[in-house]
Amino acid sequence: MIIVLRPDATEEQIGHIKERLEGLGLAVHISRGKERTVLGAIGDERVLQELPLAAFPGVEKVVPILKPYKLASREFHSENTVIHVNGVPIGGKKIQVIAGPCAVENREMLLQIAGEIKKEGVSFIRGGAFKPRTSPYTFQGLGLEGLQYLAEAREKTGLLVVTELMDPRDIEMVYQYTDVIQIGARNMQNFRLLTEVGSYDKPVILKRGLSATVKEFLMSAEYIMSKGNHNVILCERGIRTFETATRNTLDLSAVPVLKQLSHLPVIVDPSHGVGKWDLVTPMARAGVAAGADGILVEVHPDPEKAMSDGEQSLKFPVFKEMMRQIRAIAQVMGREL
Ligand code: PEP
Ligand code: MN
Repeated sequence: MIIVLRPDATEEQIGHIKERLEGLGLAVHISRGKERTVLGAIGDERVLQELPLAAFPGVEKVVPILKPYKLASREFHSENTVIHVNGVPIGGKKIQVIAGPCAVENREMLLQIAGEIKKEGVSFIRGGAFKPRTSPYTFQGLGLEGLQYLAEAREKTGLLVVTELMDPRDIEMVYQYTDVIQIGARNMQNFRLLTEVGSYDKPVILKRGLSATVKEFLMSAEYIMSKGNHNVILCERGIRTFETATRNTLDLSAVPVLKQLSHLPVIVDPSHGVGKWDLVTPMARAGVAAGADGILVEVHPDPEKAMSDGEQSLKFPVFKEMMRQIRAIAQVMGREL
């Protein structure tokens, strides 16, 4: 249920409504927009039948949220959400690029990548310390050591860190080293993990599951938000289809669809979307043209020797050219990069 308040509603009136709703066992979320403040009452709405909310001072109207996701829906928050990661906005006019290796392999390569992407004006470095590999016999990541290298890269360059959390038991450790927690495609419906990151204040990049519908994707965002963490960034990274020419099918129509249904920032990962380095730049361009708020891309100094996802990783000169091209598209879109 959304309670739209009158423009002149006082803090006292808002507090009173909130108190009554919480007294009925509902969770109340306040969304303060430029023009309107709305309250979202989340929980078993049957308890509202006896409460004449429209009669409360300060209330303009009461509207049910029809979508199964509430906090993530545009009905709840009509303006685009901008998430500030240590002062760097995701979801605003500037399109953010998040670049780095699939996995943190060693200190030297990570610092080298950090230096190269920094030169291109990027604000975020990515790198997996815990890798969700299909085979248990392949490189699983450096764990804590990898997190420490990421932190060192951050210290040396000022780049903000994005890294994946796979297991709720590692959250305290990962929390200390990262600026944004990534939830991988394979864990999009790991509800225990979603609940856990939802109770921390760290921004989360939530990747779309391999065969998740847009609705399921948004329900997973809702899991995180329902626990209090509203800093969720949605990432389209390709889905399973009958097509085998590319690793996945990058569903770029999901970008405008998600933008219509939700106020959350949406980014695109063309690397996992296509799985081949020479297809990454065209799809990064298309992602920006589709309205993405960011591009997440894998970069490696020597992809032939990469311990994971070498086939889709960009060498520095290719990355540099990608940046040049998407900067031009961003400008056409009225954005900055
Ligand atoms: C990754 O970002 O390296 C990764 C494993 O991505 P996904 O979860 O989308 O497969
Ligand atoms: Mn990867």
